[in-house]
Amino acid sequence: MELRRTREILERHGIRLQKSLGQNFLIDESVPRRTATAAIYGVAGLDAEAVSAIGTDGAAVAALEIGPGAGALTAELAARADKVVAIELDSRMIPVLGETLSEFSNVEIVEGDALKVDIAALVSEKFAGMRAVAAANLPYYLTTPLIEKLLECRKFERVCVMVQKEVAQRIVAKPGSGEYGSFSVYCKYYAEPKILFGVSPGSFLPPPKVASAVVMFDCRRGLPEGVESEEDEKRLFRLWRAAFSERRKKLAGLAAREFGISRESVETALEAMGLSPDVRGERLSLEQFIELSSCIRDV
Ligand code: SAM
Repeated sequence: MELRRTREILERHGIRLQKSLGQNFLIDESVPRRTATAAIYGVAGLDAEAVSAIGTDGAAVAALEIGPGAGALTAELAARADKVVAIELDSRMIPVLGETLSEFSNVEIVEGDALKVDIAALVSEKFAGMRAVAAANLPYYLTTPLIEKLLECRKFERVCVMVQKEVAQRIVAKPGSGEYGSFSVYCKYYAEPKILFGVSPGSFLPPPKVASAVVMFDCRRGLPEGVESEEDEKRLFRLWRAAFSERRKKLAGLAAREFGISRESVETALEAMGLSPDVRGERLSLEQFIELSSCIRDV
């Protein structure tokens, strides 16, 4: 929705946007259009007709949105998906959405806190037999917990979210770069993330202080190679969290302390992997963390 219409409808409903709810609404219509196209068809920039045959295999596609606000992204999702369910915390938005989405019969608004909703149960109930994706212009104060929720439920083929540019860079960062950290490894564990496009503050009402970017996660089906059980997963998460807990310390010492094993045994494993025994965690890829985690299991 463009600026004039968004302002008009909010004023008419007596709504002042709240910073505490992360309410920066999209007023540049190309942004929700490109986000919805990417979420539903998987490839940004292609028009729906060109990709519908290959993009969805003819199966019904459903989209879950977090924080529809006044419905800018919701409408673009509804125009492409067979069904849209959107969770909004701010009850003042419900009548607004009734108005802005009146032309769509495939949208359901759920009033509530997305952090408290059982997303897996919601998807099973509302999207049975459909392929599911998630999309959102996330409230910035909840970016990390909401991404974790969307990825960990393992219900979505694809998750397309607007986040702060710095967060986007951390999500896609490569080993050895300054932005690479625990959250980068975490995201790669669940998906293949990429930045689709940047979005400037002027695309929002009100404009935020920081630049943003839309990130697309192509989610894994099942566990990554080398992770076979919940126990493997728990050990791996402990390993990389310990590895990034003190960035200046060497990985061997941090891993030895975390698992109560000898430093030498970790150094031997690192050398067997072709890495220096003095390496720091920030140099290891997800695959290398998985390999080291298997070695630690066998110590
Ligand atoms: N999707 C709209 C757009 O792009 O114009 C609004 C995006 S705005 C950045 C974030 C939205 O999330 C707001 O509508 C806000 O009320 C809503 N929100 C904030 N916290 C939420 C929560 N815990 N659960 C669900 N929605 C929430």
